[in-house]
Amino acid sequence: MSEPEEVFDCLSCGACCRTGHDGRILVPEADLLRWRGLGRHDLVAATQPGHFGERAFATTPSGACVHLGTPASHNACAIYADRGTTCREFAPGSPQCREFRRDPSLRG
Ligand code: SF4
Ligand code: SF4
Repeated sequence: MSEPEEVFDCLSCGACCRTGHDGRILVPEADLLRWRGLGRHDLVAATQPGHFGERAFATTPSGACVHLGTPASHNACAIYADRGTTCREFAPGSPQCREFRRDPSLRG
């Protein structure tokens, strides 16, 4: 019998959202502009200095993005509709996604 196909449901996973320590989940300037335009100054404020001189999502002491977790699930993004470009472009099912999901330290 074949293995069941792995389902990549980001809202029940959140593994890559736990890799943000030291400002690793970058927030491009375009996202900051977009959020300002939407009046989401709270999202602009919830950033920290990131790699390459860019901004990055602020993180908890464990390295998780501050937007990870909702009342319904600690693995769901609380700003999913407005999340950043880096989040949108990170492909579910990609080799790096699979690597993160295999890392026990990134499980919720
Ligand atoms: S991209 Fe992959 S690691 Fe990130 S939340 Fe989605 S399924 Fe999980
Ligand atoms: S904004 Fe949402 S999708 Fe992006 S890293 Fe934070 S919790 Fe994950």
